[in-house]
Amino acid sequence: MPHLTWWANVVTDAGHHGGGPRSDLARASLRQSDARLGAFLDHLDALGVTDRVTFVVTADHGFEGSDPQVRGSWTPALDALGISYRDEGPGLVYFL
Ligand SMILES: [Zn+2]
Repeated sequence: MPHLTWWANVVTDAGHHGGGPRSDLARASLRQSDARLGAFLDHLDALGVTDRVTFVVTADHGFEGSDPQVRGSWTPALDALGISYRDEGPGLVYFL
């Protein structure tokens, strides 16, 4: 089993770019992405390794505008993790 790997699921990005936010295509892409994640988790369960896997879920971007009233810093939450990190700016954090 690898120590580190990643799984990139671009179906939601393609669906939203292709059909636009809240479109039938976008919603279908979410259902498909959910099904693919379910198959992946079922596979890990079948291998008996799910409890040994740490999942980090990220997104490349969203399609809704951000709420300008929501401001803040990741620093307190990152500091509370008790692990080394480097915050490179909006949305880009390296865990060391
Ligand atoms: Zn995109």
